[in-house]
Amino acid sequence: MGNMIGLNPSTSGGTCLQMSNGLTDVFLNVLVLGGSALAKTVSEKRLIVWLAERDQSRVGMGTVGFDLRDMPWAPASFARDREFLLCVAAGARERMGWEKLDYHPNEKLLFPCLDRFAELVGEMAFSEIKADALEEWLLGADVSDPVLCGFPLCPRHQTLLTVFGCHICNN
Ligand SMILES: [Zn+2]
Repeated sequence: MGNMIGLNPSTSGGTCLQMSNGLTDVFLNVLVLGGSALAKTVSEKRLIVWLAERDQSRVGMGTVGFDLRDMPWAPASFARDREFLLCVAAGARERMGWEKLDYHPNEKLLFPCLDRFAELVGEMAFSEIKADALEEWLLGADVSDPVLCGFPLCPRHQTLLTVFGCHICNN
């Protein structure tokens, strides 16, 4: 078991990022931690909330892999948002916010995953945006969903919350 993150995995299966369930939690923790600190715009915050919703403690172990094309990309800000995600991956590489974790991630396992993720994000092209992904995700959100309620933060980790709470507290 584990989780696979890819870009159009059906045609580029060999280049996917594959992680164990435990490593996936760590990978998402550090992205959500740095991403929450770096996100300024609504579209940037949405991308981090969407990542934080891949919460195995709530949706099931080994069920949070995804295709980058299914992320809620906003066409109007795609280039900036992709750049933002690359900054988030680089920030995680610099251990951004790690003092808020009560453990130290295994860098030998984690860093290659962050590097591969950055490569995949860099390969994501405007033409691959699924026009309805953002709209469908927002339509599926309850009125009380953090993504529709001003992006509240976890008081302990200053991370963007999801409908499931804080990804770090939960995991
Ligand atoms: Zn928390």
